[in-house]
Amino acid sequence: PESITVAELAKRMGEKSADLVKSLFNMGMMVTINQNVDQDTAELLVNEFGHTVQRVSESDVDIDTSEDVDAEDTLKPRPPVVTIMGHVDHGKTSLLDAIRGADVAGHEAGGITQHIGAYQVTPKGGDPITFLDTPGHEAFTEMRARGANITDVAILVVAADDGLKPQTVEAINHIKAAEVPMIVAINKIDKDGANAQKVREELLQHEIIVEAMSGEVQDVEVSALKKTGIDKLLEAINLQAELLELKANPDRNADATVVEAKLDKGRGPVATVLVQRGTLKVGDTFVAGPAAGKVRALVDDHGKRVKEAGPAFPVEVLGLSSLPSAGDPFTVVENDQRAREVADYRQRKLDEKRTTSAPMSLDAMFAKKG
Ligand code: GDP
Ligand code: MG
Repeated sequence: PESITVAELAKRMGEKSADLVKSLFNMGMMVTINQNVDQDTAELLVNEFGHTVQRVSESDVDIDTSEDVDAEDTLKPRPPVVTIMGHVDHGKTSLLDAIRGADVAGHEAGGITQHIGAYQVTPKGGDPITFLDTPGHEAFTEMRARGANITDVAILVVAADDGLKPQTVEAINHIKAAEVPMIVAINKIDKDGANAQKVREELLQHEIIVEAMSGEVQDVEVSALKKTGIDKLLEAINLQAELLELKANPDRNADATVVEAKLDKGRGPVATVLVQRGTLKVGDTFVAGPAAGKVRALVDDHGKRVKEAGPAFPVEVLGLSSLPSAGDPFTVVENDQRAREVADYRQRKLDEKRTTSAPMSLDAMFAKKG
């Protein structure tokens, strides 16, 4: 910050505020403990007291919004954020495509599908739902490993002709560890040899009792290929979301999470972010992991420019100084200087980490987080 109160400076120096006021008086400045002094004056004081100007601690520089809780009366309903998980080739990508095809709002808008790592669907007669479709193994696990739990509902997709496989079990374990409610999509129901009942029975071995087995976990038979059962699946998500009563304060500076980031030939560093709370606007100054910037443009999942993005609304952000990583927090801050300060601090920390330790595996990070 450009200035600091005398009281805060005294606290950081481990000196009495009154002594600082006295010293300032001797320098010809009449200042009370709650007034600000500029950086140069602060440094003068620090030296005067025989201290050295030091790099400040993390809690002073970095942003931690976890303690900053929104008042109950500021909260408004928000869409759920959904992740699809399951064994390779069981139909995750096909299902995401089929679901996208069921988007009424998108079709009306006439936009072209853009793969930006997340999209929002409004099913016929239903409420909007946000899906993460970041490729690789998997947005969900990676972001959770980095401490960003942005998924509200997990869809476990299991191919009815193949049953539970190692990655299905892995997905089940991740979903359980994250304590996210699950909906089972039994896919490829159109295929010869499809046996949905066998899938349900196999799930029992992992303490997942689906509704068809008189349990509480919703299960839906689908064919991503033939696009059957998709409406039912979306209904199941809306039902689950209702139970969760998801809410966020839209009327504040945005707190978001980076879902995907890439260097775009024409546009420079581009990040897809998912807003957790607040509303992100064009012109906002932000920090995204070790990157800083000012929102130059926001682009939705239909390639349309939008002026703002509220809670659970995924958008591409243009105007980054460098590339953040998936899972990095994206936070709107008051000014450029603050953004730079935090971004520089994080970059320094990353550099230090890189030189002092070997990269950690995803599994190791999981073990650490518990
Ligand atoms: P992912 O690896 O989980 O993303 O699986 P994909 O979506 O790439 O699907 C793997 C293969 O299964 C592809 O050849 C799909 O066409 C096929 N597939 C996906 N869903 C269905 C389905 O419902 N029925 C049939 N018959 N094939 C499907
Ligand atoms: Mg896939």
